[in-house]
Amino acid sequence: MTETGWRDRPSEILRVGEGFDLGTFDTRATPGFTGGKVEGKAARARLGERLSDLQEMLYAEGRSGGGRAVVLVLQGMDTSGKGGISRHVLGMVDPQGVAVRSFGAPTPEELQHHYLWRVRRALPRPGRIGVFDRSHYEDVLVARVARLVEGDPWQHRYAEINRFERETEAAGITVVKIALMISPEEQLARLGERLERPEKFWKYDPSDLDARERWDEYMHAYQDVFDATSTSSAPWHVVPADRKWYARLAVTQLLVDTLEDLHLSWPEATFDVGAERARFRALLPVDDAVAG
Ligand code: AMP
Ligand code: MG
Repeated sequence: MTETGWRDRPSEILRVGEGFDLGTFDTRATPGFTGGKVEGKAARARLGERLSDLQEMLYAEGRSGGGRAVVLVLQGMDTSGKGGISRHVLGMVDPQGVAVRSFGAPTPEELQHHYLWRVRRALPRPGRIGVFDRSHYEDVLVARVARLVEGDPWQHRYAEINRFERETEAAGITVVKIALMISPEEQLARLGERLERPEKFWKYDPSDLDARERWDEYMHAYQDVFDATSTSSAPWHVVPADRKWYARLAVTQLLVDTLEDLHLSWPEATFDVGAERARFRALLPVDDAVAG
């Protein structure tokens, strides 16, 4: 592990296990990584090449009739860096093989359906890496904190979500769940930047400040989500995200590990390799053919 700069595997140390407590979680920490920002950026660039190769193998498998795909579920408060993951992590691979879907407040059409309807429809096709920028978890986070739903359906929804993710995995789609956690102080700084710099105005939403006022309620809702939906086949990984370089590196490593665990290989030729090579050689000018 150490030649990668990791002392411990992020898939192990960032995974939500028994007794996970958001209350004592250090959002500025860089767990498991031995270096700082410079080393972290270099490590991510190296990993990007591996990620790109693995993604191409997954895509090739999908093109050859394989049914597997991966979906990266990204959650986090506003400004936690979800968009940056799409840009900086998935930006390292062939865009053909990636499908990013952002989930905002449901449209009138979506509201007429069960909350999982739009999520099911957005699942990646074979060979693709899907990215959910927010997800069905908004329906147990903002829906709960902003009191968008009547009654107390949360336990029922957690069970429903666990079932949905099990079905998704049974269909060959690996579910990778990552929550990017920032501190309220870091969020304040990032919101300030959005208000300061004209090139960031488009990212600012006045409702960001409303959500911020209910920070503790959100953290409580997140804790309950982690407790109820971190399953053995689809565990949560909580990534400290005050340092963007660390969060991006950790997510890249988590994705690489996920793809490695699929034991991908290049598809077998669907044609007679020997015969095609012979046909090809016959097309070469005589000198080359003799030399080859
Ligand atoms: P952004 O990710 O900054 O584009 O913001 C999307 C907004 O949509 C956030 O404020 C989310 O809380 C909100 N949102 C996403 N999903 C839902 C949902 N199921 N119900 C209500 N609001 C949602
Ligand atoms: Mg926003």
